[in-house]
Amino acid sequence: MQSGRISVQTENIFPIIKKFLYSEQEIFLRELISNAVDATTKLKVLSSKGEAKGSLGELKIEVVIDKAAGTLTIRDRGIGMNEEEVQKYLNQLAFSSAEEFINKYKGEASIIGHFGLGFYSAFMVSDRVEVVTKSYREDSIPVKWTCNGDTEFTIENTDKAERGTDIILHLSDDCKEYLEHSKIESLLEKFCKFLPIPIQFGTKKETIKEGDTDQEVETDRIINNTDPLWKKTPVDLTDEQYKSFYNELYPYAEEPLFWIHLNIDFPFNLTGILYFPKIRQNFEVQKNKIHLYSNQVFVTDDVKEIVPEFLMLLHGVIDSPDIPLNVSRSYLQADSNVRKISGYITKKVAEKLSELFKKDRKDFQNKWTDISTFVKYGLISDEKFAEKAMAFTLLENSEKEYFTIEEYKEKIKDSQKDKDNRLIGLYTNDLKLHYRSVQHAKEHGYDVLLLNNVLDNHFIQQLEMKAEMTFKRVDSDTLNHLIDKGEQTELVLSESEQKTIEELFKSLPTNKASKTEVKSLSPNDPPVLIVKPEFMRRMTEMQYMMSAMKGDAEDNPFLNHFESVINGNHPLVSQKLIAESDPVKQKEIADYLFKLALLDQHMLQGEGLHDFVKKSLERV
Ligand code: ADP
Repeated sequence: MQSGRISVQTENIFPIIKKFLYSEQEIFLRELISNAVDATTKLKVLSSKGEAKGSLGELKIEVVIDKAAGTLTIRDRGIGMNEEEVQKYLNQLAFSSAEEFINKYKGEASIIGHFGLGFYSAFMVSDRVEVVTKSYREDSIPVKWTCNGDTEFTIENTDKAERGTDIILHLSDDCKEYLEHSKIESLLEKFCKFLPIPIQFGTKKETIKEGDTDQEVETDRIINNTDPLWKKTPVDLTDEQYKSFYNELYPYAEEPLFWIHLNIDFPFNLTGILYFPKIRQNFEVQKNKIHLYSNQVFVTDDVKEIVPEFLMLLHGVIDSPDIPLNVSRSYLQADSNVRKISGYITKKVAEKLSELFKKDRKDFQNKWTDISTFVKYGLISDEKFAEKAMAFTLLENSEKEYFTIEEYKEKIKDSQKDKDNRLIGLYTNDLKLHYRSVQHAKEHGYDVLLLNNVLDNHFIQQLEMKAEMTFKRVDSDTLNHLIDKGEQTELVLSESEQKTIEELFKSLPTNKASKTEVKSLSPNDPPVLIVKPEFMRRMTEMQYMMSAMKGDAEDNPFLNHFESVINGNHPLVSQKLIAESDPVKQKEIADYLFKLALLDQHMLQGEGLHDFVKKSLERV
């Protein structure tokens, strides 16, 4: 028996491992199983080269709980280690043989570990760790290495019949939960679901037919799918397979709209499948997240640092060995591969959307409602995506017709330019609420867009910068000002009459407008109009949405900001009101006209509405 000191550069490295390297304690299982997978993969490579002799036997990894002994064992039938290798790989901390192996057999196997620290994560949960191992080499002597989590270790010869390694964790008192079957089962489900080597955890009962009788037999319970879909060649796969894999990832989710199979080996290695879910209007909390894998080992479903925010609305799997497995967040952000990967995925997603749009526009239009939030979010937040997305972003009008931005500009270029040559896009976010204004605009030969997505305020802001258009909601001004052609209608009121009318309307108790003005509109326009100026409204709404998202939205007094416009040319104003000599009656008429305007905007409610209806009925 030998004893010795583990050579470390820094004293007391274990506390560092515990604290900084791993945010989650439970990843020890992932690390140890990854090592077992690597050891098995290495053996397969050596065998294929004739360097490992004899039959390999069944190459599975076993996870075994022994409650009585208080141990958790991870057993593999991989290459194993001889004494010299144990000395080299386990004692010289951070000296990873993985790197050596990769350099030697470049491109022939996917090796999970790179850092040489994975194994030591075992000490996050154990008081003592034993490694019982036998190398694949002929006549090698099995050894047992024991360490109590400090820098002291022992190494001795032992009995072990089979090739491979047992990692035996004597769990510490505060980690006894890892002796629970259900706990380990859920961890395996989380981290190991798609590992390339079969992992056995317990057994299962199966009934098989033998002649006429049913036989119940106990078989290994293999918890993983060793050949996940994203590793396969896209041309060999059917839609059904993609859908059923989606179902495997997210058992309760609604069927996805479409998907992208990612596959690249240069300048970094990445495979995966990204699915487009139906995204509901109100950004419901995303519970089905993208899963990040590294060589089929689950790393995280928090991909914030790896993909741009708008892509997080997608579902699916990304697998890249070039994303460091076990380092902290801040590292990840600074990693240049990670940045490249993010750019690549963005590009692929944009290309896929563009392809779908070109291939079957009708189908794309049908799906537009479900993907528009995604596309708009990308267009707002990612310059590179926006460059491509401008070509397939659709605008829908009140007639349910769809246009690309360019097509739409072409459509309205003759009718909707104002006197300063600005192209004005009119829109509504609510066809019912703005029914009259929309009709009115249409009667003038204008087109009205329907923009009722949560992101539309931000979206049109982007279009105003990128597409040289100005957007105005149909209720934000009178029609002649929405698209100001510079044509003046004469006001029939004299200056003093105008003042009288303005004062009259300002004095109405129901008039809470921030501004009341007499304007010269067409006699066919309504006598009183309520307008909500575009700029003010949009800014307030955007501010409100941001604070609502942060959860600190208060009732913003500007949210219901409006102005009153009195049509000085309407006969009810220019003749009836002016001619009325009884001030009480005059006020009554003004109040009635004003309330009609409120009613038109659905702003007359409760008691006000009740009184209005009652008085109207009395009048009849
Ligand atoms: P990494 O896996 O990143 O290389 P580890 O600290 O996890 O680093 O492991 C260090 C080395 O110990 C591995 O590179 C490997 O050579 C050896 N090793 C660990 N676990 C096993 C195992 N189950 N079978 C064979 N060798 C192993």
